[in-house]
Amino acid sequence: MTHQARKRFGQNFLSDPNIIRKIVEAIAPQRGQNMVEIGPGLGAMTDPLLERVGHLQVVEIDRDLIARLHERYLPEQLTVHEGDALKFDFARLGDDLRVVGNLPYNISTPLLFHLARFADRVRDMTFMLQKEVVMRMVAAPGSGDYGRLSVMLQYRFRMGRLFDVPPGAFRPVPKVISSIVRLVPRPAEALEARDEEILSQVVTAAFGQRRKTLRNTLRGLIDEAGLERLGIDPGDRAERLAVADFVRIANAL
Ligand code: SAM
Repeated sequence: MTHQARKRFGQNFLSDPNIIRKIVEAIAPQRGQNMVEIGPGLGAMTDPLLERVGHLQVVEIDRDLIARLHERYLPEQLTVHEGDALKFDFARLGDDLRVVGNLPYNISTPLLFHLARFADRVRDMTFMLQKEVVMRMVAAPGSGDYGRLSVMLQYRFRMGRLFDVPPGAFRPVPKVISSIVRLVPRPAEALEARDEEILSQVVTAAFGQRRKTLRNTLRGLIDEAGLERLGIDPGDRAERLAVADFVRIANAL
């Protein structure tokens, strides 16, 4: 029975065996690890992962695909969580999680923000995403790609773009190039935000109007003298600040 790919669930299924092998090599799964796949779909990655790990937990939203997963795999191989990964409580899945997935691109940014909340449960995460999103995740200060996504993820994770995947590796063929990215939680740093909600507010305000200076975008949160006391030039723009600068501002509030 063929499956009609659903656009609203961002379904582009991996079909190139060489690319699948390369991604699995990059993940380097080992028997017994606590591995979670988001959006297993038709199982392109699930099969080779299971072969190496022995058991996998998956989170999938599409009921038709879930029915197929139940037909295809034994409960001792696969624990299927039916639901929306955006709302899913990953803390339920235990500790030392290795999270993987060829993520639905239409929800990739909110999903990354959601997953960041479970960083303390995670050993690492390896995802396929739209290349443009990966470039924003790993962007350094001063680059046009540097923004809220870069700061909030880099605050919690070390990240690296591993390699690109061409559209032809999927069915249906997407319009965009994809990249594989790895995220590894940072150890608690000397510079830790006392309140991550405040950090998020500062970063959101600072990048809300990215062409404006900090003196303007942060007005209402911190005044010029406050910025100067932290050694931050109120005439700078958000894109020039390091992650640590945002943390220092948040901690001063
Ligand atoms: N892993 C498969 C592959 O590589 O061929 C499928 C990848 S496809 C890009 C994205 C998968 O995520 C689909 O199986 C889709 O149904 C599922 N999905 C979409 N939105 C989701 C959500 N909010 N929560 C959980 N799974 C979702």
